[in-house]
Formats: sequence, structure tokens, C-alpha cells
Amino acid sequence: MSKIRIHKTEKYIKVNNIYCVGRNYVDHINEMNGSIFSELPVIFIKPNSSIINDGGVVEIPKYSDNYISENLHYEVELVIVISRNGQNIPENETEKYILGYAVGLDMTLRDIQDDSKKNGTPWAISKGFLSSAPVSDIILKNPSLNPMKFELILFHNNIKKQHANTSLMIHNIYKLVSYISSIFSIQKHDLIFTGTPVGVGKVISGDKIVATLDKKLKLSVEVL
Ligand code: MG
Repeated sequence: MSKIRIHKTEKYIKVNNIYCVGRNYVDHINEMNGSIFSELPVIFIKPNSSIINDGGVVEIPKYSDNYISENLHYEVELVIVISRNGQNIPENETEKYILGYAVGLDMTLRDIQDDSKKNGTPWAISKGFLSSAPVSDIILKNPSLNPMKFELILFHNNIKKQHANTSLMIHNIYKLVSYISSIFSIQKHDLIFTGTPVGVGKVISGDKIVATLDKKLKLSVEVL
């Protein structure tokens, strides 16, 4: 089971399920030439083995000695950490089910995802490969934090490429928790990746990615 540290402690949580939201920022939908939003969130899942921690390495998988993709992309995202089990949670009660927040990267094999979109096949490989979900430490929920106004920033080789506020989400975090709890239920220590803003891009071997949340959390990874 993958583990994530609680910020400024030596305590860890064991990650349970990993839910991800697609198409949750208008400007990102436009840069992908996607259709403007549906009324309900787009949800997909990553396996537990996709998690890596701060300082980790992202690697495109090989099969039969060949890399399976030539187009690895970063996507910076707010990650919600769930505190306890629940089902069919009304939006106005979801706050009680949140343990804290992290900054994460929804690493994506864009060429494979594009093929899947064309062919109507699942996103499991393009979104769920080993090391596709780098996550920072968790900052525990507290009254000084407003998750509707977090600032997300991503640097690619020290150049700022993504910079947005979580206030721009189409479906806010409380709606996401309510919706996911109704479809799957939620369980203690599930993660929810809440979608990426505009500015996604390609990385290659040797590149460094740094993501921050409100200057409180920082996540650094390298591409092998
Ligand atoms: Mg994403």
C-alpha cells in the first residue's frame, strides 16, 4: 500500500482508492479542444501503485524493451484526502469527510490517451501507469485553509507553466465528494485528484517538475 506523510509530522496514511476528475477547468477543456462541460463530473481511477512521493521519479513504462509512449504530460491538481467512510453524502455535509489536502500531479501519456479517445477504449494505461500519481505531504484541514481559494503553481525546469486558483473549478470539491460518494461510496484515506487548470505540457527524460499549493506544500519529481 502506498503511503503519504502528514505535513510536519512523521505520521503517514496508507492510501486507499484514488479517484480523479477530468475536464474541471474551462480553460483546460479549451486547450484540449474538448467539449464544454457536462453537468456531471468526469471520473476515472488510478491504481494504488501509481502513487509516488516528493523526491520521486516518474517513468514512462516499457513493454518488450520499448517505451509505450512518446508524450508524457504533467497536470497539477489539488488532491483531497478523505477522513472516513461514507455514502450518498449531501454536498453540505461533505466537509466532515475531508481529512486534508495535498498537491498532486496527474501524469498522463497523452498520445495513448488521444488514441483511447479516438477508439473509445479506457484511459487505464494513459492515466494509471506506475508512477503516474506523484503526491506531496498532506496538510490537515483547519479553519485557516480555504480549499475553494487555493493557488496551484507548476514549474517545469524552473519555468512557470501552470498557475491557477481552485476557485476556477467547474465542479467544486464539495460537489465532487458528494458525487463520488453516491457512485462508489468513499472510504477512509481515499484520494480525489480534482482536475487540472490550463497549461499542461510535455516533459522528457531529465526534466524536473515542481508543484506548489499556496506556498504551504511543495512537490518535486524528476522524469527518468
Ligand atoms: Mg487530470
